[in-house]
Amino acid sequence: MSRVYLIKSENYSTDELIADRLKALVEEKDLFNFIEEKDMVVVKTHFGESNKSGYPRPVILKKVGELIKAKEALPFMTETSTLYKGNRSNAIIHIEHAYKQGFGYENTGMPIIMADGLYGDEEIDVPIDGKLYKSVKIASLIVKSQSFVCVSHFTGHLAAGFGATIKNIGMGCASRRWKMIQHSNAKPTISKKACTKCKQCITWCPEEAISMDDKSAVINSKKCIGCGECLAVCRFDAVNYNWGATYEELQKKIVEHAFGVYNSKKGKGIYINLLTRISKDCDCMAQYENICDDIGIIVSTDPVAVDSASLDLVEKTSGVAFSKLAYNIPYKFQIDYADELGFGSSKYELVEF
Ligand code: SF4
Ligand code: SF4
Repeated sequence: MSRVYLIKSENYSTDELIADRLKALVEEKDLFNFIEEKDMVVVKTHFGESNKSGYPRPVILKKVGELIKAKEALPFMTETSTLYKGNRSNAIIHIEHAYKQGFGYENTGMPIIMADGLYGDEEIDVPIDGKLYKSVKIASLIVKSQSFVCVSHFTGHLAAGFGATIKNIGMGCASRRWKMIQHSNAKPTISKKACTKCKQCITWCPEEAISMDDKSAVINSKKCIGCGECLAVCRFDAVNYNWGATYEELQKKIVEHAFGVYNSKKGKGIYINLLTRISKDCDCMAQYENICDDIGIIVSTDPVAVDSASLDLVEKTSGVAFSKLAYNIPYKFQIDYADELGFGSSKYELVEF
């Protein structure tokens, strides 16, 4: 059974106070003891799509960087390019976007280096004992760095059910090509009857995959990358996903990539989930809808236990199943599948700090 630490936000009302408490936890329990002098330490996070979403705030990252530097190691923040066009589709515009979001050196004390290179195509093969794959391709610098600190924001997710550590490392550390392979089966369709021809989906589709015919919007499945933006923006429930055919395979692929990241950093990683500003959609989406009171921060060296505990805490705090808060799909599937592959455990001991 893995140990998971909880810092409750009700006792620490600002991001600054939570960051200070995180520092106290890491120091008192010596949680960064796997980081050695001169290690290059990758700090994987998410810079958010817009400043209204609940992405990890720079002050938290700054504290993480200071804790790594206290070990005489060399931290850098990292991300990977998105599948779709937009603010984060290559290294240059992604880093510029991160600066605009407040992640400059002056606020975090760490440089940003993209893990998958300039174009999102630098990847390294990592062996795993999966059921779909015997190896997965992970963004190069995740594998090449010596230690790994992952800072994730817990949110709902329209295809994975929820997103936190497993999704942040499983999809967020995959190269663009492998992100595409993960999404390959998730293609939405549009109901001609429900569509009002408002064109919102056309405005937001990152791949220009939607056009209008005389009756409704129409998706070109050859151009569609399955990002789900059209589903999120349609107010008339006209966009349909075949969840039964897609969620299981997508979540399995995400989990097997998370397995690869875990394998490449075995014994040299720690996973931090922020359970604040919890939103229905992930931080890649432009819109924000809060679905649960703030809970706090949880920390573990086990990527499965940290997500399992997060989900339980959100359901306990809200008093309802997560499918009622976000999307009505089998949201526990990724935890069950990670448990089955055995690179972490859904069982945990929760220790309040
Ligand atoms: S957003 Fe929905 S209602 Fe509007 S055009 Fe697209 S599918 Fe039709
Ligand atoms: S899922 Fe929707 S928004 Fe995304 S690429 Fe396909 S059609 Fe466009």
